[in-house]
Amino acid sequence: MKALHELVQEAKATALGQVVLSPNEAEVARQLQICNACRYCESFCAVFPAMTRRLSFEQNDIHYMANLCHSCGACLHACQYADPHDFQVNIPQSMAKVRLETYQTYAWPKSMGKWYQHNGLWIAICLTLSLAFFVALIMMKQNSSVFDGTKVLGFYDILGHNAMVNLFAPIFIFDVIALGIGLFTFLSKIAPVTGEVGASTQATLEATQNMLTLKYLDGGHGEGCNNEDDAFTLAKRRAHHLTFYGFMLCFASTTVATFYHYALGLFAPYDLSTLPKLLGVLGGVSLLIGSIALAKLNLSRHKDHGDAKQKPMDLGFIALLILTSSTGLLLWLAGKTVAMPLLLALHLGSIMALFLTLPYGKFAHGIYRGAALVRFAVEKRQPSRLILKED
Ligand code: SF4
Ligand code: SF4
Repeated sequence: MKALHELVQEAKATALGQVVLSPNEAEVARQLQICNACRYCESFCAVFPAMTRRLSFEQNDIHYMANLCHSCGACLHACQYADPHDFQVNIPQSMAKVRLETYQTYAWPKSMGKWYQHNGLWIAICLTLSLAFFVALIMMKQNSSVFDGTKVLGFYDILGHNAMVNLFAPIFIFDVIALGIGLFTFLSKIAPVTGEVGASTQATLEATQNMLTLKYLDGGHGEGCNNEDDAFTLAKRRAHHLTFYGFMLCFASTTVATFYHYALGLFAPYDLSTLPKLLGVLGGVSLLIGSIALAKLNLSRHKDHGDAKQKPMDLGFIALLILTSSTGLLLWLAGKTVAMPLLLALHLGSIMALFLTLPYGKFAHGIYRGAALVRFAVEKRQPSRLILKED
């Protein structure tokens, strides 16, 4: 229930045609006013140069900057106004709280936004097991003796190609639509505050390079960010790289395999020397190592970094990445053995759970952060509106 002064503030803002900030957004605005006077962290990441272009912070400024931040912790460990100082500045934590609000605000369908708060480790595990059971039932319908262990079966004797396409295509299409609408709404919201014009080739290339190299995970000085204490570490950057490129290699493997199937008439299973298998194995190993490293970093993270309430969402997503990659590699190692049907059901169940939760979990961070980096590259090429005002 809202306090009386909040209701009065809301009524005043509505009368003036202003957007009322949520308590978390108002807290970010308060802290950014302090940072704007201090500016010690100017070179750490994209947030501070974006901040210096503003004297006050409206809701769309805050949404934009919250998604430029990735809670590396550098500005908290450097801050002379952090706890126990009365100013209580903690940019990574306050930004993380707003980021969650932005995921919920821009979620499509809107009613699914609340899932960001419910998504967690147990949901990930239970969803994987339920979907694996569902896949196993479909397998048994196709071949009733599939789990008897009496016969060694081939991949497509267990589950036909069309059955797999029917299972995954609707989920994949839904993900593209849901994330696409969320991204479009977010970009429309922040576009006016970062310049109405579209991104130039130069700005797009710079933003892409920053995303692919995870530039801002270097702490601004190249030695990395803080995780558990004041020491700098590149572990977070490396773990993100392994995870991201592992995921992309697995995706490339599926894409090439689809091309082999439909265009070349070459059907799975493929030998290790073939491109789909090489990409899949390399991607699986990279994804597994990267996501285990991310889990370790998340569990050892400093208590004041990020928002502790979002830990279950982070861990749920990481668990699904670990389950997907580990079951995929085990499936490959098991080959045509009696364990194959069970591993296939678990692997497909984990991939379905991963893609079903993709638009309502930690994956959204990559999408919105990428969009914010593009807008940052656009904005930095424009003259500061503060200078224009002085003229
Ligand atoms: S985080 Fe602290 S040290 Fe950094 S700019 Fe803000 S107030 Fe200054
Ligand atoms: S936590 Fe890291 S990314 Fe976020 S504002 Fe501070 S230095 Fe920038």
